[in-house]
Amino acid sequence: MLAESHIYFHKAADVLGLDDKIRTILLTPRRSVKVEVVIEGEDGELQTYNGYRVQHNMARGPMKGGLRYHPAMDEDHAAALANLMTWKTAVVDVPYGGAKGGIDCDPRSMSERDLFQVTTRFVEQMKEVIGPTTDIPAPDVNTNAKVMGWIMHEYSKYEGFSPGVVTGKPLDLFGSEGREAATGRGVMDVLAEALRERGRTFEEVSVAVQGFGNVGSNAARLIADRGAKIVAVADHTGGVCKEDGLDIPALVTWVAEHGGVAGFPDGEAFDSSEIITWDADVLVPAALEGAIHEDNADDVKAGLIVEGANAPTTPEAHQTLVDRDVLIVPDILANAGGVTVSYFEWAQNIQQFRWDEERVNLELDKKMSRAYQAVREVATDRGIDLRTAAFVLAITRVGKAALARVHLKSELPF
Ligand code: NAD
Repeated sequence: MLAESHIYFHKAADVLGLDDKIRTILLTPRRSVKVEVVIEGEDGELQTYNGYRVQHNMARGPMKGGLRYHPAMDEDHAAALANLMTWKTAVVDVPYGGAKGGIDCDPRSMSERDLFQVTTRFVEQMKEVIGPTTDIPAPDVNTNAKVMGWIMHEYSKYEGFSPGVVTGKPLDLFGSEGREAATGRGVMDVLAEALRERGRTFEEVSVAVQGFGNVGSNAARLIADRGAKIVAVADHTGGVCKEDGLDIPALVTWVAEHGGVAGFPDGEAFDSSEIITWDADVLVPAALEGAIHEDNADDVKAGLIVEGANAPTTPEAHQTLVDRDVLIVPDILANAGGVTVSYFEWAQNIQQFRWDEERVNLELDKKMSRAYQAVREVATDRGIDLRTAAFVLAITRVGKAALARVHLKSELPF
């Protein structure tokens, strides 16, 4: 993972002509903190975990990124993801840097009471490191609005009322309207831009979606609302297809009741592994890392891929697809709707003011469209693909902000 994000960074750094020293400065995290999290479990036994927070860069504002609870969480993983957050927040031009963290616990084997204890202990240890003007965590794998509410409460005990210390909070506790669907909505927004520049409309295209969780289901619903046909959907339970378009609201209800798309009566079943090479105009991978790889990239039939998931395309597959003239809207642009509405949540918290959903959605649509256009401009000017262009744009924005803060004798290429 670390290596993959660095491959794209270095490709963009080559385009910008950055020397090794500047690359090292831009890639090295500003700070990495590890804490021991000890609790007395419900069973009376002591449990110990490691908690991490890697703060990558804050040239453009307070650092921002998710908090992941997973046994495989470690410093390297947090560092790679923190790095990506710096570029993602810069691409969509929200005033943040990047961070990431988590705890190496397994929430599936823990009681809610133990999870609460682990979370509050983590905050107690990290309270000097995070904060509304320094580093603002958000939900990630295995954390949710409830955990964010606990964090806000614990941090506020020490620092006073601080709703802006985390985003993705419950609506009843200073969360934002529109946050839940924001990443899927951003996917729809960038697809709208990509279709517009190709002179096509939603009504003309068919779409295949891998993953029907938060990102996939919201993207599918909003894309279908615009008139496109969602012809195939796959998740961990199987695949379901319909040539003249699946009824997405009915599928959402089915998944809520049955835990997956398998068995949905108004469509035909297929093996979920076929989704990546489905015969559709647009492919939205919104599930797994590395779903499009060397062995299936040649068989992808879609001419347009919008990356809802993080890193769904391996670097080898990316190159194969670019060589085949498949347009890829990269993850750091396509799935940045969530962090964008996190920014709106934080802005509302700081102003102690609430926006209605219509305003949140309108502002998100504007931010995502502008980000797509800015990336497209760089891609066209420099004759590069959208992923490399997104990194070039992000590195340039971060580099310019860093330079504007200091006095240097040397000239840098930003
Ligand atoms: P989720 O847990 O809500 O949904 C994941 C989906 O993937 C589920 O439908 C699951 O069935 C499906 N899936 C799992 N294994 C599969 C397989 N082998 N084949 C097909 N489908 C499979 O997760 P999410 O929040 O929707 O996140 C999806 C991706 O988007 C992740 O890569 C995540 O990091 C990324 N992402 C999410 C957000 C967000 O706001 N939720 C923001 C940015 C990026």
